[in-house]
Amino acid sequence: MHYCNLAGPTIDWLVDELGLGITEAVFAPEHTLYSVPRTYKAGTIDGTSAVLVALLKKLETYDNITIHTTTQAIRLIQDELSGRIIGVMAVDGNGMLQEFYAEHGVILATGGFGNNPAMLEKYVAGSEDWLMIVAPGSTGDGHRMAREVGADLVNMEYVPTYNYGFERSNGQIQMVYVRSELFGGLYINSEGKRFVNELATQKSREHALRVQPGSVMFEVFDDAINQANNRSNINALIADGEIASANTIEELAVKIGLDPDVFAQTIETYNSYVDAGEDLDFGKTPLNVKIETAPFYAAKLRPLGLLTLGGVSIDLNGRVLDTNGSAIPGLFAAGEMLGGLHGTHISSGNGVTAPIVFGRLAGQQVVLTEKFGLRPETAATTDIVLTDGTFSGSAMSFGGEMKVEVTVEAGKITEITILSHQDTPAIASGALETMVGKILDANSINVDTVTGATITSKGLINAMQDALSN
Ligand SMILES: Cc1cc2nc3c(=O)[nH]c(=O)nc-3n(C[C@H](O)[C@H](O)[C@H](O)COP(=O)(O)OP(=O)(O)OC[C@H]3O[C@@H](n4cnc5c(N)ncnc54)[C@H](O)[C@@H]3O)c2cc1C
Repeated sequence: MHYCNLAGPTIDWLVDELGLGITEAVFAPEHTLYSVPRTYKAGTIDGTSAVLVALLKKLETYDNITIHTTTQAIRLIQDELSGRIIGVMAVDGNGMLQEFYAEHGVILATGGFGNNPAMLEKYVAGSEDWLMIVAPGSTGDGHRMAREVGADLVNMEYVPTYNYGFERSNGQIQMVYVRSELFGGLYINSEGKRFVNELATQKSREHALRVQPGSVMFEVFDDAINQANNRSNINALIADGEIASANTIEELAVKIGLDPDVFAQTIETYNSYVDAGEDLDFGKTPLNVKIETAPFYAAKLRPLGLLTLGGVSIDLNGRVLDTNGSAIPGLFAAGEMLGGLHGTHISSGNGVTAPIVFGRLAGQQVVLTEKFGLRPETAATTDIVLTDGTFSGSAMSFGGEMKVEVTVEAGKITEITILSHQDTPAIASGALETMVGKILDANSINVDTVTGATITSKGLINAMQDALSN
């Protein structure tokens, strides 16, 4: 519901703020058709998605945004005291380790995990028999990084597949929508038998293929069906010998490795169903086209995965949830790395819309998040002569004034008492305890601040400097 509510305003934003010339929803015939036109098409500019071009143009208008390409995030940096995510570690194009610190939070938008065979094997049963042509960057890095800081991963087994996975003889994997079933073509498994109503819903047909031996099917059609289908890409694949053809059913069976007797019996039985007007095996209707006109064709197909639907859960503000359902402070996520959004399947177009909607949401929400201290640093380098006595001092810290009392005995700082502060208790209490320990150990205020609590750390150091300088 939240997604639906945000989708409309996001389209408006694309049009009004980014200047995309899309104002009318259309039917998108390359997808399973919706009952009403509801697809907005932005098209491409010089071969690149117009949405991406517009977003990049917008980014260029900000002088405080740097895009690091060829830089791979490898780990989230988590403040050990508060658990807050405060940055990422990355490896740049020269193999150098880089650290990036965030003032407000980190947004993960690393896509899916369909290009990570180990993750597919772990989470998606049967996927070893499928063909995948996902985006190359879909390596599940974001899933792993989020998991490492306690994020819950949901619906990881949900990977929609389409019955269009085609492997050319040179090993190249292609998406080939043969479409013969609309004109009477049959789906035959590697045992030479039909396994589904070829005109059932797309989802039923896809699930039926997955459970066939080796997840293999042959889309079988004759010349009359091919003429009716009339697809130039299919004719090209036939001409190249990539789709098998033969003048008899038995010959075709031998070519594609099926038992000729079983296959011929399947076709004969099916043709008898057409004559009788009833498909006794799968109840297909309409049933009016026999497989009888040579040459006969068979396209070998397997499930094809384009994207994965499992990943992190987020709350309504785009914050990543841990296994207890609590938001991990400072961590947001968007895009294909979200789980729990689409279910087992995805309505066409939402693979693109959802990343834009939730990317925008995360961007809006992250800047509303309270600022956090930055990287650890040495906050003070002042040389202070330690004089015995008990002194009080104060300085501005994250939430306001911090007051301290310091005792020095025989030239050593022996006691530090935080009299008051107004910083966020969850972050400040651990940080102040750590800082006090560091200062006592060093007998100096020239110590590193606590990662993720820099402002609080500096507040204490400055308050001590104030006390000891008096
Ligand atoms: C062939 C194909 C056809 C599709 N057709 C449709 C369609 O018709 N309709 C539809 O709705 N959806 C479709 N999809 C799905 C849709 O394109 C994706 O779901 C969507 O683009 C995901 O967007 P994203 O921004 O989340 O991830 P991506 O677009 O994959 O972007 C993630 C980015 O993060 C980068 N990245 C990954 N790991 C790291 C790291 N560790 N450090 C730094 N960067 C990293 C990646 O390199 C990539 O640039 C299709 C997908 C494919 C592959």
